[in-house]
Parts: sequence; structure tokens; C-alpha cells
Amino acid sequence: MKKKGRCDNCGRLVSDKEILFEIRIDIYAKGGPIEITKEDLQKDHIEEMKKLIKAMENMDEQELTDEVWESYRFDLCQDCRKEFHAKLKLKESGRTPRVFRHRIGNS
Ligand SMILES: [Zn+2]
Repeated sequence: MKKKGRCDNCGRLVSDKEILFEIRIDIYAKGGPIEITKEDLQKDHIEEMKKLIKAMENMDEQELTDEVWESYRFDLCQDCRKEFHAKLKLKESGRTPRVFRHRIGNS
């Protein structure tokens, strides 16, 4: 039997008679524009690399990971799942969903 859980969106306690849903969101960097200028080609690349490594050393490990990949996992009750489903359906029909204005992430 499934244990009771709490909905991460509305905070409601979900009993074992209800279905608890899981939503996963992965955010990946798709890459940006690459521009190579004349100055870039004339730069001292080893020196640039050293600078970059030095800058990265000062960054938090989490900070570095977040730049390229973020992953979230939420439990949702049936009502909140329906709400998400509706928002995602809007995206399919070409209208912009406002998934990220949802309570998740704002609380
Ligand atoms: Zn809920």
C-alpha cells in the first residue's frame, strides 16, 4: 500500500486512497549563439583558460551545475495534476502556458 504523501503544490495531505502524481522538470541549456571575433582568435588562449578556471574556482559547485542543468521533482495531488495537465495542453494548442508562474517556485 502506498504511503501518504503531501502535495508539493497546494500542501494538502494525500491519503492512501488517492493517487499521488509525480512531476519532473529538467531544464537544460540548449546552447546560445557562438560568435568568434578576430580578437578572440588573437587572444592568448592559455591565459584565457587560466582566467576561466580561476573564476570557476570561486563559483559554488551548485551554481555551476545550475547553469547547464536543473532538475526538479514534485509530488502532486489529483487536482494539481489536472491543473498542470491543462496548462501543458495549452502549450500544445500553441498558447503560452504560464507553468512557471504557478505556485511551485514562488512559495
Ligand atoms: Zn495539490
